[in-house]
Amino acid sequence: MMDKIPLLLEVLPYIQNFRDKTFVIKLGGNVISDEERLLSLSKDISILYNLGIKIVLVHGGAKQVDEHLNKISHEPEKIDGRRITDKKAIDVAKMIYGGKLNSEITASLMSVGVSSIGLKGCDGGTVMAEKRDIVNICDDENGVAKEVDFGYVGDITEINPDLLTMLLDNGYLPVISCLATDDDGTILNVNADTIAKEIAVAIDSEKMILLTDVPGVLEDKDNPSSIISYMTIEEAEEVYRSSKISGGMIPKLQNCINAVKEGVNQVHIIEGIKEHTLLAELFTNQGIGTMIEGK
Ligand code: ADP
Ligand code: MG
Repeated sequence: MMDKIPLLLEVLPYIQNFRDKTFVIKLGGNVISDEERLLSLSKDISILYNLGIKIVLVHGGAKQVDEHLNKISHEPEKIDGRRITDKKAIDVAKMIYGGKLNSEITASLMSVGVSSIGLKGCDGGTVMAEKRDIVNICDDENGVAKEVDFGYVGDITEINPDLLTMLLDNGYLPVISCLATDDDGTILNVNADTIAKEIAVAIDSEKMILLTDVPGVLEDKDNPSSIISYMTIEEAEEVYRSSKISGGMIPKLQNCINAVKEGVNQVHIIEGIKEHTLLAELFTNQGIGTMIEGK
């Protein structure tokens, strides 16, 4: 028993520092795909919640949307690896993001005593977006430029944080899915990292924490032990411009850089699919994932 006391003293400065601060935590699709993993994460989050940290959760779940589209044998068109969100895809996105995943996360948190509230980005006008413009993309095969309409995909135009602030001030933990709406009420899918970043900036969050399926930003994406533990913005920008990152890490790192530039003090990218990585990152000096800081 007594051997646990030094540990308490070790985390005391963190506890003091985090009290009354706001963290935005984003859960990637792989992090929430398994009930046990989600419960373990909910317990870690409940520790932060009980320490008096105000938390907003944002979640994606593209993997689950893809799985469901597969089940109904609908194969949306992909261009350069990016899926076109057609009518069927956005309908499934509404069900999976706004229904299944959102309620599973909320229920898991409730089961460990966290007063969570499930929301879609569009609730209370929290996340307003506009349909992404048609873009010109160079065809890999013949080098000819072509117009691509990504469908029901949105770019954020405005964040209205009033609903979130009201909930946070009353002890609730909002869980927000990555569905936004435009001025005409069309529901659009927005990248969840981008929602997390915009909300973190709008509510003056101390930290933005992105939980994903890799240990952090890697020097070599195929070598999990090549993690970059710490980056200044300048270093992060250098990595962003390099060929070290690809796929989902491109918008992720871009959002991290922008978050810090726009006032979020620290950004963390952590492997959310491993147990207790969130606590290891936040309550130890050496951390476990990638941290980006302003300075
Ligand atoms: P999430 O659902 O958490 O947003 P994404 O798939 O969008 O996850 O982004 C994370 C992915 O980015 C990783 O699974 C990995 O395949 C890819 N990636 C590309 N380059 C890197 C890199 N240098 N370091 C880490 N991950 C990278
Ligand atoms: Mg992603």
